Amino acid sequence: MAERILNFIGGQFAEPLSGQYLEKYEPATGQVIALVPASGAQDVEAAVAAAQRAFPQWAAMPAEERARLLLRIAERLEERLSELALAESRDTGKPLWLAQSVDIPRAVRNFRFFATGLLHVSTEAYQMGPEVLSYTLRQPLGVVGCIAPWNLPLYLLSWKVAPALAAGNCVVAKPSELTPTTATLLAEICHEVGMPPGVLNIVHGEGPVAGAALVAHPAVRAISFTGGTRTGMEIARVAAPMFKKLTLELGGKNPTIIFEDCAFERAVAEAVRAAFSNQGEICLCGSRILVQRSIYSRFRQEFVARVQALRVGDPLEPTTQQGAVISEAHLQKVLSYVELARHDGGVVLCGGHRVQLDGRCRDGYFVAPTVVEGLSPQCRVNQEEIFGPVATLIPFDTEDEAIAIANATPYGLAAGVWTENLSRAHRVAEALEAGVVWINCWMVRDLRTPFGGMKQSGVGREGGWEAFHFFMEPKSVTVALWRD
Ligand code: NAD
Repeated sequence: MAERILNFIGGQFAEPLSGQYLEKYEPATGQVIALVPASGAQDVEAAVAAAQRAFPQWAAMPAEERARLLLRIAERLEERLSELALAESRDTGKPLWLAQSVDIPRAVRNFRFFATGLLHVSTEAYQMGPEVLSYTLRQPLGVVGCIAPWNLPLYLLSWKVAPALAAGNCVVAKPSELTPTTATLLAEICHEVGMPPGVLNIVHGEGPVAGAALVAHPAVRAISFTGGTRTGMEIARVAAPMFKKLTLELGGKNPTIIFEDCAFERAVAEAVRAAFSNQGEICLCGSRILVQRSIYSRFRQEFVARVQALRVGDPLEPTTQQGAVISEAHLQKVLSYVELARHDGGVVLCGGHRVQLDGRCRDGYFVAPTVVEGLSPQCRVNQEEIFGPVATLIPFDTEDEAIAIANATPYGLAAGVWTENLSRAHRVAEALEAGVVWINCWMVRDLRTPFGGMKQSGVGREGGWEAFHFFMEPKSVTVALWRD
């Protein structure tokens, strides 16, 4: 029996006003496992109204009390980790161990980080001689919208919701319709810990319907969005003329640059992890692997051997390294890029096909991890985001050439640099057009650092004080101190 998921509005679980539901498929089995509310503008309207009602009390709540509630949420998420991880794995197709070790622990950290951060928010004061004092008030915005994708559902939703709430806003959140379950469990937890009704509201539904209604709602003061670049363009088109604050965390086509002086074994192992973690469905995945020609053939041999050894299987099995991709449509999109690669003269070194499993997962959406070489850096496969388990190998000769290839896409989210030469590492990091650069590592995240992309990877930054500043309106107050 498919579980029926509900919206969470004004502290109550509610059916969508239309009474309509969408079918939610489990990627590993191809079966319908849940019905998701097909919410529309009226549900969004109700959620925004509930958030508006809750705002004065939430914004006025002393910081310590607000922090205590957010810490309680973190605690409950941690206590329910197994249940949340199972839900995340079933919704996304990702290995259960990955949801247990990365997704849910990170959601816990997000709440803890912003709950404690809120106790340290301070602001500036300026003296202009002895007679004029200016200071900056930073006030919550009011009602804000948080829209999240399907690849890291609770991890990314909480990365927005936690700072928005910590800053004193009330939130209407729209999770991906493909992965609704953990957001609903978060709503349950908010209810359990005594979050005032209306502070966090969750509206499920399709992006162009429920998401679009949230973006267009005049009372929603800011939109924090993570998802595809095309969706980001549409959101900006609607929100910009309404002068809403916007952060857009969008797609990527990230280079991993392997110099001949790298620590070879570690570089190969991490390049595999960077390309294929979560089936390559992470915006930060390094899908273009640029390798210095002097070590190219040695690297290729080692890299392909490791990729071939990745075990594709049931996400619930602890030995599975590659789970299912999110949907049949996405699987077809990924394979269409492999066809395109072949058509453009690429050589498929491993993978390149669907994987048929037995038993419970026989109708699941599994793709063999794929490595392609022989493509020009300008071809579509090396320019467009595939967002699946497909990586390309690109040789280069010089540092300048590596930088030029790395920067020659419309995206600018993340990049990896592998070298033992300290000067080169810093030099290349400075030259790369990417919001995040990792030197000799991948996806190591200090939550205090600004996070976001350049070019078509987005605008604005999340993380640390950037997030607090985004979710607050600065107001300059100037006082003249007259001496009579
Ligand atoms: P998507 O853009 O299709 O959907 C993201 C969210 O936006 C979903 O909740 C969806 O329902 C909603 N949405 C869709 N159309 C909308 C509209 N017109 N108005 C308002 N909301 C709308 O993206 P996806 O397929 O869920 O996620 C994959 C994409 O997300 C990839 O491109 C990936 O690179 C990107 N991503 C980026 C980051 C980052 O931090 N930069 C992180 C993860 C994923």
